[in-house]
Amino acid sequence: MSQRADTIFAKIIRGELPCHRVYEDDLVLAFLDIFPISRGHTLVVPKRAAATLDVLDDDSSAAIGRVLPKISRAVLAATGARSFNVLQNNGADAHQAVFHVHFHIIPHYDDGSGLGIGWNASKLQTDEAVKIAASIAGKLS
Ligand code: AMP
Repeated sequence: MSQRADTIFAKIIRGELPCHRVYEDDLVLAFLDIFPISRGHTLVVPKRAAATLDVLDDDSSAAIGRVLPKISRAVLAATGARSFNVLQNNGADAHQAVFHVHFHIIPHYDDGSGLGIGWNASKLQTDEAVKIAASIAGKLS
């Protein structure tokens, strides 16, 4: 295993480093983020190592999808937050720091604390939309 693949989350999953665990099953571990953006900020992590979401195996993907809503509900119930963001970064340029797939559940509070988002949107142009949609659809297998 390369050094990059042996991440801090792999060590947590193996029990070599501590965490504040909130959920565990055969394929998934969830624990509190050690530098939370807001109270209750939780990370949901597949136990099988994959650096980024696009290379995560189907069983782990399904397992994460099955528990994300349940863990989100528990975070909301425990914190009293009424809204939250699920954030999933892939690649250093996209703010990924730990190269083991993880989903952030970040509660948003009435005082405004939570994830700040920069959203530099522009209007979709039809000719470009037709091309890129067809291209993406053609790459699915
Ligand atoms: P990302 O930028 O999406 O890769 O986020 C990585 C997250 O992992 C950050 O929010 C860190 O605070 C968090 N983190 C790093 N080390 C630990 C750790 N030992 N326990 C819990 N969370 C951690």
